[in-house]
Amino acid sequence: MPEKFTVRADHRACHAVPAIPAATGASPAIVADALARPLQDLRISLTDRCNFRCVYCMPEEFFNADYAFLPRDALLNFEEITRIARIFVGHGVRKIRLTGGEPLLRKHLENLIEMLAQLRTPDGRELDLALTTNGSLLAQKAQSLRDAGLKRLTVSLDSLDDSTFRRMNGVDFPVAQVLRGLDAARAAGFGPIKLNMVVKRGTNDQEIVPMARHFKGTPFIPRFIEYMDVGASNDWRMDEVVPSSEVVRRIAEHMPLEAVESNHPGETAERWRYLDGGGEIGVISSVTQSFCRDCIRARLSTEGVLYTCLFAASGHDLRTLMRGGKTDQEIAAAVAGLWQVRADRYSELRSAKTGGAAAPTRKIEMSYIGG
Ligand code: SAM
Ligand code: SF4
Ligand code: SF4
Repeated sequence: MPEKFTVRADHRACHAVPAIPAATGASPAIVADALARPLQDLRISLTDRCNFRCVYCMPEEFFNADYAFLPRDALLNFEEITRIARIFVGHGVRKIRLTGGEPLLRKHLENLIEMLAQLRTPDGRELDLALTTNGSLLAQKAQSLRDAGLKRLTVSLDSLDDSTFRRMNGVDFPVAQVLRGLDAARAAGFGPIKLNMVVKRGTNDQEIVPMARHFKGTPFIPRFIEYMDVGASNDWRMDEVVPSSEVVRRIAEHMPLEAVESNHPGETAERWRYLDGGGEIGVISSVTQSFCRDCIRARLSTEGVLYTCLFAASGHDLRTLMRGGKTDQEIAAAVAGLWQVRADRYSELRSAKTGGAAAPTRKIEMSYIGG
C-alpha cells in the first residue's frame, strides 16, 4: 500500500502519490479488488461547493464563511477529468456519475459532458453518463445538459412541503423551483428520472407517503435513502435513521407494493413496485442493510483524490501523478494496483461491530468526495 501522507484538514485527507506498480504492458480490461469486486462505476465530484446547506450534508454551522473550500487551481480541469475517466473506462468502468457538491455550479459543465460522452468502452459502447443535482438550476440547464450528451439525471428532493424543504436545504430555497427543474428535465427528454429523498426522522419522515403518492404513475422514481453517517459535520444519530423496512411498510399501508428483482449486481437501491401498476419506488438501506459485497464503485474527489469507499479516511492522489508527467499507462497501472488491494466494507463492519452506530473513524465530507 502507498505510504501515508499528512492530514490536510479536519475533514479531508489523502495519501501521497501511490507507488506505481511496474508497468505490465496493456492494462487489463477488468480489474477486481481483494474481495473479487470489479471496478465498474466511477463517481466524479466536480466541486466541493454548493448553493444549499442541507442539514444532513453541509450544515450551515460548519460550512459557513470560515470554511476553506478548495482553491480553483486545486480542482481537476476538464482535460484532467476526461483523462482519468478514460483510464478508468479502460479498466472496465461502464458508468460515470457526475456529482459534488453541486455539479451544476461548475462553469461550462456542458463542455465536460461533451468530452465524456465521446468516450467508448473497450468493446465500443457508449458510457452510462449520469449526474446527481439538487435541481436548483435545472430549469435553466436541463436542455443544454441533454444536448451535450448527458444520459441520465438524479435529482435530490427531500420534501414536497415548501417549509420542510426550505428548512432542510438550509438556504430557504423554494421547492417550486426544483419542481420546475423536473418539468424542464422531462421536456428535454430525460426519463425515467430518479428522485433522492434522504429521510431523517423527526425532520421529513412525515413526507414519505406524500412523496410516494405525488410521483405514483409518473416517470419519476422516488428513492428513499437512509440518513448516513458520512463526514464529521452532520452530528449523525442512529435514532434519526428511518430504516428502509419502515419506509416500505408506511407506503404499502396506503399503496400496496411488491419487491422487484434488481436490474444488475451493484445496484444500491432495492426496488418495489405498486401492485396496481402505478410504477415503482426504491429504497437505499446504506445503514441497516449494507451492500458492500457488491460495491463496484470508485470515487474521485474534486481535486483528483481517488477513494475506494465513501467512508474512507484517506485516498490516493491521482492529480499529482497527472501533473507530475506520468503517462496514461503508468497512471492506469497505479489505479489497477490500488483497486486490486481494496478490501473496504465499512457499512458491513459498522453493522457487525456496532449494530448500526457509526464506527469511530474520521471520515471525509460527502460534498468533497462526491455523494
Ligand atoms: N448536490 C447534489 C445533490 O444534492 O443531489 C449532488 C451531491 S449530494 C452529496 C449527492 C447525494 O448525496 C444527494 O442525493 C444527497 O441527498 C445525498 N446525501 C448527502 N448527505 C447524505 C447523508 N448524510 N445521508 C444520505 N444521503 C446523503
Ligand atoms: Fe449540497 Fe447536495 Fe450536499 Fe445538499 S446534499 S448540501 S445539495 S451537496
Ligand atoms: Fe462501498 Fe464503502 Fe459503501 Fe461498503 S461502505 S458499500 S465498500 S462505499
